[in-house]
Amino acid sequence: MTWTQPLCQPCRTRDERGVFRRIPNDHSRICCSCGEATSAGIYIRIDPASVPYPSED
Ligand SMILES: [Zn+2]
Repeated sequence: MTWTQPLCQPCRTRDERGVFRRIPNDHSRICCSCGEATSAGIYIRIDPASVPYPSED
């Protein structure tokens, strides 16, 4: 699994630590933190083993 994981806007607002990047017009992803669908295009670098909903790619 990849260390680049999608994050929804509410989860990003809740925890603003760390490096993230934003991809405009991204398609829908599952937030690695809460499991909700998001198209915010926010990605963080995090150990996939440390989040409850890691994505594969
Ligand atoms: Zn979330």
